[in-house]
Amino acid sequence: MERLEFKQRNVFSKSFARDNLSYVVRHTHEKMAELVHILQRVPGTAIVYVRSRKRTKVISDHLNLNGIKADYYHAGLSIEEKEDKQNKWKTDECRVVVATNAFGMGIDKPDVRVVVHVDVPNSLEEYYQEAGRAGRDGKHSYVVLLVSSTDSRTLHRHVTDSFPEKDFLRTVYERACNFMHVAVGCGYDHQYDFNFNLFCRTFNLPVLPTHSALNILTRAGYISFIEEVEAQSRVMILADKNELYELHTTTPCADQVLQALLRIYTGLFADYVFINEDVIAYRTGIDQETIYNSLLEFTRMHILHYVPRKRTPFIYFPTSREEPRYLRFPKAVYEDLRQRMQERVEAVLSYASTGVRCREAALLAYFGELNHGDCGHCDACIERKKQSSHTSTDVQEGVLYMTQVKPRTMQELIDTLSFSRDEICDMVSFLVDEGYILHLPDDTYSNPEPLK
Ligand SMILES: [Zn+2]
Repeated sequence: MERLEFKQRNVFSKSFARDNLSYVVRHTHEKMAELVHILQRVPGTAIVYVRSRKRTKVISDHLNLNGIKADYYHAGLSIEEKEDKQNKWKTDECRVVVATNAFGMGIDKPDVRVVVHVDVPNSLEEYYQEAGRAGRDGKHSYVVLLVSSTDSRTLHRHVTDSFPEKDFLRTVYERACNFMHVAVGCGYDHQYDFNFNLFCRTFNLPVLPTHSALNILTRAGYISFIEEVEAQSRVMILADKNELYELHTTTPCADQVLQALLRIYTGLFADYVFINEDVIAYRTGIDQETIYNSLLEFTRMHILHYVPRKRTPFIYFPTSREEPRYLRFPKAVYEDLRQRMQERVEAVLSYASTGVRCREAALLAYFGELNHGDCGHCDACIERKKQSSHTSTDVQEGVLYMTQVKPRTMQELIDTLSFSRDEICDMVSFLVDEGYILHLPDDTYSNPEPLK
């Protein structure tokens, strides 16, 4: 039992603090130049994350032009292309992959030396997960976030696009109902095909806010917008068995399709049965198109009913169409969610700011591991080390001068000098211990050295 607990604790601590990762935030107006610079300085496998699909290719081309072997990856590629690109990267044939956040799930390459985010991601959750793909072999690796002045605007825009004004939600609802020819009071428990791109084009609606509007209307329970449909085809045979034997089909192919159906599937006479056109094609050697047409032909002849698989998105009405002015959006599906998104954006922007706080400590604090010591090797820690070697003399001179002019309390020193409370307290006690300044009975500090 104890062993188990010990193990679990280990797993937990390992999942958050990663001693071999150096977190770096770079503020730059020249992200491309900075990216090339980083990849030239840090050898080995790399992942570069960007927000848009289009830019994965643009950036990958740019790297190749600069002699860095790169490829691009996003969710819009075919399965074959994706596998090919993943394999080339895994086997080191390609050094750098420039990708959207679609890349990385289920891909475990231990020797990733650097993960660079060219754009600030939507949340620290996303950032931490993607950055964590660096250095899984435990060797020293870098995770770099490139930040420019436009990132904050992009992220705030993301929030407003995700939560459009409520009047806009009502407009989208009304237009979508008209688009599907659903009258007020109708539609209950019905489902309509919904071509989203055509809808946006027809009413000249902005794509992202409109998409968000449909999702909010879904969460509010007025519609159910289903985008990804992978429903299988279904068939039920309407004719009875004797009719089938006497059936004279127009083509031999149609006959073969029907025979295959009867051989492969059972229960076709009783109810709709899921079928797979690929399997029928494989068994008969007939192409998909012919199978599809044969099944439609049988449907027209009322021999069977064929419902082809659907790829178009649809909208289902859990309730009949409302007058737009009666639409209500509860706090839980609008304000609360917007607030949460806003907070996530502020957190990631605060991490990305030119702070003095240790990057790793800041990340861990966000995930609830408070009071974690500074890592000592992120950009903030290194910068602080550099600065502190200069400022200790500055603090010393400041305290010596101020207490030379007249005796001061500790609070006065803290209020007048532009150093941190800790730095001033440490310096004062050092100078008292060494005899440079005196701690007087009225709790003030004085430098007995006369002013020149
Ligand atoms: Zn640090």
